[in-house]
Formats: sequence, C-alpha cells, structure tokens
Amino acid sequence: MMKLYNSLTHTKDDFITHEPGKCTMYTCGPTVYHFAHIGNLRTYIMEDVLEKALRYSGLDVKRCMNITDVGHLTSDADTGEDKMLKGARREHKTVMQIAEFYTEAFFKDCKKLNISVPEFVVPATSRIDDFIEMVTVLLEKGYAYTANGNVYFDTSRLGEYYVFNKHEAENLEIGVREGVEEDTAKKNKTDFVLWFTKSKFEDQELKWDSPWGTGYPGWHIECSAISVKTLGEYLDLHCGGIDNAFPHHTNEIAQSEAYLGHKWCSQWFHVHHLNTNSGKMSKSSGEFLTLSLLEDKGYDPLVYRFFCIQSHYRKSLVFSWEGLDGAAAAYGKLVAKIAALDPAGDIDEEGSAPLKSSFASALENDLNTSLAVTALYDVLKSGLNDATKLSLVSDFDKVLSLDLIKKAETARKAAEKKAQAEASDEFTVTCNRENADEAFAAAVRDLLLERAGAKKKKDFARADEIRNRLTEMGVTIVDSKNGVSWS
Ligand code: AMP
Ligand code: ZN
Repeated sequence: MMKLYNSLTHTKDDFITHEPGKCTMYTCGPTVYHFAHIGNLRTYIMEDVLEKALRYSGLDVKRCMNITDVGHLTSDADTGEDKMLKGARREHKTVMQIAEFYTEAFFKDCKKLNISVPEFVVPATSRIDDFIEMVTVLLEKGYAYTANGNVYFDTSRLGEYYVFNKHEAENLEIGVREGVEEDTAKKNKTDFVLWFTKSKFEDQELKWDSPWGTGYPGWHIECSAISVKTLGEYLDLHCGGIDNAFPHHTNEIAQSEAYLGHKWCSQWFHVHHLNTNSGKMSKSSGEFLTLSLLEDKGYDPLVYRFFCIQSHYRKSLVFSWEGLDGAAAAYGKLVAKIAALDPAGDIDEEGSAPLKSSFASALENDLNTSLAVTALYDVLKSGLNDATKLSLVSDFDKVLSLDLIKKAETARKAAEKKAQAEASDEFTVTCNRENADEAFAAAVRDLLLERAGAKKKKDFARADEIRNRLTEMGVTIVDSKNGVSWS
C-alpha cells in the first residue's frame, strides 16, 4: 500500500482511492508565458515519478493537467497584470502565439527529461463554458456575489477556509501580504475572483461573453472545473508545487466543494522548492535557469532528473553547479557499471524478489526516491548474475526513467568502436557529448582532423592555434594513442 504525506492532514496516510485499483490524478500545469525554469521542472519530474510509482504499484492512473493560458495574474492574489499579457507585450506577439510557443517549449523540456505527457492536457481557454457553468452554480448556491463588475467567491460562507495551514492564517491573508494591494470591492479579505469583467487593463486580449459581462476567468476556477469535468466528482490525488497550496489550492477546494456539495479530494501532494543560494528560483526574481542552459553547458537533461530524484520531494533542494557535477559523475559511473554487464544467461526470479521488494517499499514510503536509487545500487552490488541485474535495472527504470539500458548500450558501442579503431591503428574522433548538435560536431571533427594532420607534419603552431580555437568553442579534448575524444 502506497503511503503519501498529505498536506491536508499533515501525516503520512495510506493512499486509498475512491475506486479500488484506479486512481484519478490532477496536476497543476504551467503558466505558458515564459520558459519553465528548472525549479518548475523539479515539480514536474517528481509528479512524473509519482505517477509511474503508482502505476508500478498496480494502480490504473488517469491523469489530467491544465495549461494556464489565461487568468493567472502576476500576484496569486488576483492583483497585478495577467502573466500571459505580460509575456505577449515583452515579445511583441499575441497572447495565443505566446501560449503556443511556450506550451511547445514546455513539452520539449518534458520529453528531454523523460516526463510522460498526462493522458489529458487541457488548455484553460478550451473550457470557458465549464468555468461559466461552475460560477453560475456557485452564484445560485449563494457562495458567490458580484461586486464592481467582478464575480467573487464568498469565503465567509465556509466553515473552514485555511485548510492546509491554520497557524499561518494571519500571514497568508490576501491583502496583508507585502506588495499586494487590497481590492476594496471584496466583502472579505480572503474572497477571490471567479470571473473578471473589470480589470485594471482594458487591453486584455482574450475575453468571452458571460452572464456577468464580457470578461475572463480567474486562475483558480480553471483547475477546479477542468479537474471535475475531466476526472469526475471525486478526485483521488491533487499535485503541485508547495507555493500552490495557498491561495491556489485553498481556493480550488473552497469552490469545488461548494459546487459539488461534498468533499472533493482527500490527498494533496506538494513538491517543495528548488532554491539557489540567493533564494527560491522564480521567473520574476533571482536566478532563472532553464533546461536549455544546462544543455548548453554540456549537461545531459537526464543528469538533472537524476539530481532531482536523489533528494526527497518534501525537502527544499538547493541547486549548485557542484551538485549537478556530482550527479553527472554518479550517473556516468552508473551507466558504465550497467554497460559492463553481460546480458547472456537466465534471469533468477527468486533471487531478484527481495531487491524488487525493497525498491517498491522505498517508493511506497512517501515516494522515497533516494532510497529507491539505493535499491538500484544494491542490485549492481548483489551477487546475482548479470542477466538478472539487467532485468532489475530495466524494471526499476520504468519508474526512474533514466534511460539506463539505452545509455549503457550507447556507451558499450562507443567503447567497442574505440577498441576496434585502436586495434586497426586508425585515427578516430570520438564525441562524448550525447545529442550534440550535428553541424557543431562536424565542425569540431574537421578541426580535430586538421590538427592531427598538422601534428603529423610537425606544424605545432597550427596545431596549437586549432586547440585554442576549440577551447574558445567550449570544447575539451583528450588525446589518446590512436585518436582524440572530445566533449
Ligand atoms: P507556474 O508555471 O508558475 O504556474 O508553475 C508551475 C509549477 O512549478 C507549479 O506547480 C509551481 O508550484 C511550481 N514551482 C514554481 N517555482 C518552483 C520552484 N522554485 N521549485 C519547484 N517548483 C516550483
Ligand atoms: Zn491549479
């Protein structure tokens, strides 16, 4: 039985789903006004591991994620500018062009990180009718009111509003947080917007007709309506980054339960932040690192995935280049160990059972991914034959998604090629960089062959010139007897 820490109860609970054997899972998706930073990607990596761990434990998971392409303001508390509009203005494009571009960029990052695309991916702008229906019902039931042209949720109608963290209620109240202006049209400080018709910016590009006037939805209503309409009235598991707990998830619970008239979701999974030494990684402040930047610096995206799964999702994680280098070295060694295994032989099912069970127990213990990685090392250290080890690595990688078998195969082929070349005395140029840009790799190869020729002719000045040029290009080279390898 999977046990997960539940942000609602503050305890590790048995994960019991509404329908046995099945699980509905909702994850808040990206606001597509900019590239995802590696902090956002930490959250998506851990949610991906969670989904795969649930499947590994035998559950049939139905997962949905929204794409926020309207309604998320620069402050989570309904104030400031629409983030999408801000992105469009920054790049002199339309909101829809921005949404399309950054949605595609987001999924490209996910692919590189082996993050599976959820079964249902729903852009907010495709479900406006559902939002209007939900707001209409909330008004009919007396949970909402119109004021100053906007529709607000009336939090005073709830028995309990701060469902996640009662102790911090004072600090969290909308309107008292630093830098957030208070909206005087609200009846209560904690009320929030369901539908905007009056906004500070008249140039809002995306507007729809509604019973309350032309306008656009609030951010929170998106996730409630998309989840309820796609996954049904009883949601098993809701996920997001820890900053989403308040006000976003708090408001989602308020409006979903008021709309449905019963409890909606009992299990809340929050991933803690990726920080830098100067604080939380965010798009508006501090260092903003993207996956492409890591790639430009020569890191395999899966090294970042490995870096993330080595720490627990409920601890904040400090990013450092040293830490990433450590993960790169460990990942390289792991792949090399797997590459050295001989696939011939029979699989020892009985011998592999205890290792499989410790891997499963690590995941079932509140998704203890670092312990799951230890179970993987234990396989390699065990006395089992190579074929059994390979079969366990492949099995564990269904959850870890580190491409361990594929990378080991590539490493094995490269080593074979190098050995063959050495034996035949042929000069070889080996590229150690996975997925290197083809044109760049061809240019490096030409320079390295020219350098080899220069050295043969004892033109050391030209050979040095070429080496300097390669250094400027960020290329590191290692010479060997019969060739040169570069990264
Ligand atoms: P956004 O695109 O801003 O809506 O955020 C996408 C997801 O990333 C949300 O689940 C956030 O809670 C999460 N998130 C934002 N900043 C961080 C961070 N520094 N570390 C981890 N997750 C984050
Ligand atoms: Zn959401």
